[in-house]
Amino acid sequence: MQDQFRRQIDYLRISITDRCNLRCIYCMPSSGVPWIPHEDILSFEEILRLMRISTQLGFRRFRITGGEPLVRKGILDFARESARLPGVDDLMITTNGLLLPEMAFDLKAAGVHRVNISLDTMDSERFREITRGGDVSKVIQGIFRSLEAGLNPVKINVVVVRNVNTQELPSFLTLAKQYPLHIRFIELMPIGLSSERRADFVPIEEMKEILELKQDVPKEDILGGGPAEYFQPPGYKGSVGFISALSRHFCTTCNRIRLTADGKLRPCLHSKHEIDMREGLRNGSTDQELLDLFARAVWHKPAEHHMNEEALQGQRLMSQIGG
Ligand code: SAM
Ligand code: SF4
Repeated sequence: MQDQFRRQIDYLRISITDRCNLRCIYCMPSSGVPWIPHEDILSFEEILRLMRISTQLGFRRFRITGGEPLVRKGILDFARESARLPGVDDLMITTNGLLLPEMAFDLKAAGVHRVNISLDTMDSERFREITRGGDVSKVIQGIFRSLEAGLNPVKINVVVVRNVNTQELPSFLTLAKQYPLHIRFIELMPIGLSSERRADFVPIEEMKEILELKQDVPKEDILGGGPAEYFQPPGYKGSVGFISALSRHFCTTCNRIRLTADGKLRPCLHSKHEIDMREGLRNGSTDQELLDLFARAVWHKPAEHHMNEEALQGQRLMSQIGG
């Protein structure tokens, strides 16, 4: 359906858990965070009901995220049920990739179409520091298993953090050149833990300078309707993209809303405004009543975010929203 600013909103990002097997420095404190109690997390049946209702409003694209979605028990059955819902045209997952070596084929068989894998560095020591303990070889294995399994496209999310991985950006070009992988360099967003990390922010223009990426390389309009700007230099099997929440607003083309693991719809990533769906789900609301709530959330999607002016402090962490 359209929102009040005539944007077509057809993409729902669903966080199925706030839990994670990593503690990335820009996303979660090293001590972790108190998990949302199990009973407050939407069951898969509840999520499927909301997905079904959303398809009646024209939602067609669904991304499963977290926390780390692959740590939630029953994820494969959930993916299978989701893929079977009439109206679900595109089922995607965003993951840190640690569990992909053993799950990529099962996810594909369950009906997941494509996968985004987060990988900020290919250096094992640096990876351990950024993620506070992760094993990069698992993620790299997971990336290649995903390609073998036929998940397509496979995108790699690289959050760029000053003096942490800036020096390594060119090596990701090699990856995009040699393999059909779509690398997306992402500006650090001032959300949750990162709201105080402005000094670590690297604007897209600076990333392009580091990469020596010329403006005239062909721009590929691939990979459907997201906020990234893609380039495919000649001879590349994959592509290189940039996601800029700060230096280039993507709000006018925003096509999504988010559902948190505890059942709140967030019309905008960077707004505190949430609509509680869980209460309706659990107090006997009819499908029509839930659909009306959903439609209200879409309609009231704000025109744009205000990340440049204010950081979201004391709000949900990124791991509690789903990215
Ligand atoms: N655990 C999964 C993963 O890491 O891919 C899914 C959830 S994670 C919150 C989703 C995406 O958000 C990841 O690509 C992560 O790198 C990104 N992210 C987390 N905090 C961020 C921040 N402050 N700025 C930009 N991206 C961020
Ligand atoms: Fe976990 Fe993803 Fe956040 Fe890293 S970015 S701590 S993997 S939720």
